[in-house]
Amino acid sequence: CGIVAARVDGGAAPYLLRALTLLEYRGYDSAGVAIVTEDASTAVIRSVGRVGGLTTDVAAWSGAPLTGLGIGHTRWATHGAVTTGNAHPHRDCTGRISVAHNGIIENHRALRQELEADGHAFASDVDSEVVCHLIEDHLESSGDLLRSVHAATRRLEGSWALVVTDADTGRLVAAAHHSPLIVASSAIGDFVTSDIGAIADWVDEYRTLVDGDIVELADELVWTRDGQRTAAPQAALCPFTSA
Ligand code: GLU
Repeated sequence: CGIVAARVDGGAAPYLLRALTLLEYRGYDSAGVAIVTEDASTAVIRSVGRVGGLTTDVAAWSGAPLTGLGIGHTRWATHGAVTTGNAHPHRDCTGRISVAHNGIIENHRALRQELEADGHAFASDVDSEVVCHLIEDHLESSGDLLRSVHAATRRLEGSWALVVTDADTGRLVAAAHHSPLIVASSAIGDFVTSDIGAIADWVDEYRTLVDGDIVELADELVWTRDGQRTAAPQAALCPFTSA
């Protein structure tokens, strides 16, 4: 329903939680964040109900310190009951890959069957979880997150706005197909969101993904369309920025 991702200096948590609070107006049933930790694992914190509850849970985190790389999601359940375990972000079997997804994966049943037959263990009832395992499979062979996300999305039918983190390499990739997604820059760092209003308080300019775009937020944006590297589209000024 609502997506945000951050690649910032310092901690990502306050930005993700602020954006999720601003996404509340869209309606949702549960919310969560996945933030890479200083020991290169991921803190996945999810809860049913208001973002206020999630904020309390994040404040109570007592594991390894959280970094500036993370993703967040407010869920409007389409597949799978409203439970903490079905809330996003979801993870692959290794725990390395975290994914937040807006939309519906229409061929999720067939993909789940295929992945389970290959030995993948699913942790939720949600259509979106197939994306984590598809990326995991491709990452094993290609070793490259951007290429793995592209290969995974080629297997999907339906609609998706995706943000994906790799805790091992500290990489962040976004992909869109029939679901809105924006990449934005600011003095604080780079962001991805499904709704510019969620980050407009601190972001200066943004670029909109079109179907087939897969973008890596690195020191420079790596913009690909249908698997080919392409120039990033012209940036637009954030509507709330005063000149
Ligand atoms: N289909 C996914 C689910 O049921 C994503 C729903 C959404 O866009 O929030 O969790």
